Amino acid sequence: MTIEFPDWKSMGHYYFPLGVSMRQEFGCAVWKVSVDIGCSCPNIDGTVGTGGCLFCNTSSFAPSRRFLQSETSISEQINTGIRQLQRRYGKAKKFIAYFQPSTNTYLSPDSLEQFCRTALAHTEIVGLAIGTRPDALPDEILDMLELLSRKFWIQLEIGLQSIHQKSLDFLNRGHNYPVFLDTFRRCRQHHLRLGVHLILGIPGEDRGDVLATAHEIARIRPDCVKLHNLYVVRETPLEKLWQDGKIHLPTLKEYAGLVVDFLEVLPPEIVIDRISGEADASFLLAPDWTGIKHAARNAINQEFQQRHSFQGSRYLM
Ligand code: SF4
Repeated sequence: MTIEFPDWKSMGHYYFPLGVSMRQEFGCAVWKVSVDIGCSCPNIDGTVGTGGCLFCNTSSFAPSRRFLQSETSISEQINTGIRQLQRRYGKAKKFIAYFQPSTNTYLSPDSLEQFCRTALAHTEIVGLAIGTRPDALPDEILDMLELLSRKFWIQLEIGLQSIHQKSLDFLNRGHNYPVFLDTFRRCRQHHLRLGVHLILGIPGEDRGDVLATAHEIARIRPDCVKLHNLYVVRETPLEKLWQDGKIHLPTLKEYAGLVVDFLEVLPPEIVIDRISGEADASFLLAPDWTGIKHAARNAINQEFQQRHSFQGSRYLM
């Protein structure tokens, strides 16, 4: 098999991390700046459902919605985000604007194009990532993004979470897997770069379910995958289930095992954008280890080490 992606294994990684992919694309470290373009969500406003996903508190996930007023202009948000990242990572010079909270394709193509062009006109922005749902990507939006992506680096990040209907129902996602597959196919027809968000450790899913999702993702081959553990934040329907003791959240060891099971099956050229969830400490309720910096990454690396395996080790067999 010809390998045309960076040899991340010889760099000491167990999986293909986003940082290596960014350096390959842009020649230096690139950081994502969270931007709130003020969208709502069809799973909240009644179009698809009300109440949103079981785990969702849009304020808790995105710095842009936690810290900034929605009327703050995109340029101001980018400038603020860049300053914060440079305080943390002194050398940061290039950035991707990440339209993060809520459903960022849930608006007219013209409005979205205007937001995209404003962000891309910022001198330190080298690309754009757009977070959305599978049922909020009509062809008109894809047509616009296809034209834009001929000139700019653009990635759509689609929340799938699981291929299993029982899990999508449990999470109150309001879409099914066939809808995702249809959207994925249309995005590919439009030559768009695609990331898929998934949750590992959903109550009711066993290791076989996680492996089934991994094999399916290996089959459809997105450009990038973002993995989250299920964690509980304040003011969500999940909080009540957790308070009532009705759900089991994976321990750190269990989660690390699931991530490694999953990544062993993925083709080695799929970029791993994230391997665990991150929530603001003032919102996070459980599990405790979600709030401990690098806990998940260290446990996952240790699991790979013990198994003598790596991303794609089962895919390549
Ligand atoms: S689709 Fe996204 S924004 Fe909408 S309710 Fe679910 S997690 Fe929240």
